[in-house]
Amino acid sequence: MTSHVSRADAAPQPHATAPHAPAPHTPWSTLAPVAEIGFGVYVHVPFCHHKCDYCAFATFTDRAHLIDRYLAALKVEIERAATGADSSGAASPLASTIFVGGGTPSLVDPQALVTVLDAIPRRDDAEFTIECNPDDVTVDMLRTFRSIGVNRISLGMQSAREHVLLSLGRTHTPANVKRAVDAIADAGLDNFNLDVIYGGAGESLADWKSTIESVIALGAPHVSAYGLTVENGTALADQPDRHPDDDDQADKYDIADDLLAASGRMNYEISNWAVPGRECRHNAVYWSGGDYAGFGSAAHAHRGGRRSWNVRTPDRYIELIESGKSAESSHEELDDRTRRLERLQLQLRTRDGVPREALADADVEEMSELVQPHGDRLVLTRAGRLLANEVSLRLRA
Ligand code: SF4
Repeated sequence: MTSHVSRADAAPQPHATAPHAPAPHTPWSTLAPVAEIGFGVYVHVPFCHHKCDYCAFATFTDRAHLIDRYLAALKVEIERAATGADSSGAASPLASTIFVGGGTPSLVDPQALVTVLDAIPRRDDAEFTIECNPDDVTVDMLRTFRSIGVNRISLGMQSAREHVLLSLGRTHTPANVKRAVDAIADAGLDNFNLDVIYGGAGESLADWKSTIESVIALGAPHVSAYGLTVENGTALADQPDRHPDDDDQADKYDIADDLLAASGRMNYEISNWAVPGRECRHNAVYWSGGDYAGFGSAAHAHRGGRRSWNVRTPDRYIELIESGKSAESSHEELDDRTRRLERLQLQLRTRDGVPREALADADVEEMSELVQPHGDRLVLTRAGRLLANEVSLRLRA
């Protein structure tokens, strides 16, 4: 679903205004050795009820007839990787993090989905997230997910204001987000993310402030807030009068950062805030340049500098898997310098920043409003988080 990019655990807790207590694991950092961050698995479910106006993801609203065959193919692809019967020739490592996204994973039958997901070899303490549409979530669905170790839910909330949701082309209501958050607690899950988007047409600063206040009131331990972007090929791209305004989005970023920080949710990557200990470990795999497998149509994978991606449509994906072939569409080999540069670009976006030597002294001086030294690291200022690409262009691998 939407952030598009995301842990069997505790007893039910009430969702109060105060954030949940920190989880007992160590503070999040992309500086942890990659081996410690572990191996990630992403599973793509490419079906949606409705195509949102701004969405450029490989998702489909007219292929529900393919769901059963798609899930069967997904299980085959996962089992091949688990046993080394795929192109890698080696059994995949146990997953430290699993993220099931799309698309709308909560659109498919929960029991059928967990039967597939249970084939993923994983550590007992793996972070295991499933993205859900608030309209779909029921306590029974979440208990089914939890039965295989799912311990984190990511909800596509987007806005607390009904007129903003309509303008984004979303079909759920703010009331359903509250109902879904209550269901998460009733199912005995205490870890969840709310995705929100700022900059939709007709969204005032007051609308956005009320969205962030709702996120806090709902007790979300983790929040992903993304500025609306205009992607080629979307319905939004054809309607310039609905395109977001940079200055308005910058003001909304500041509102989110002020309110979330004051509530104890700290920014740890440009678009992500969490109660300490509740940072998304799956994100850390990506941002540290770690290895991950991708299952399903359009899923990407990375193993030791080899990046690959599957065919985009579920139809083609099913055909290939059913005929005994790999679903890989293409791949690229990354040389060491490219890997180092990509890792720096991703780390720059996090609160860990980059090593001092990643930028020339003259560049640090010139961009002093955007990036500041912290010990032997350089970290983006809040103004820098809004202009990270400008800093990124000067990075030296
Ligand atoms: S719910 Fe909307 S934004 Fe999310 S994947 Fe489906 S179409 Fe895209």
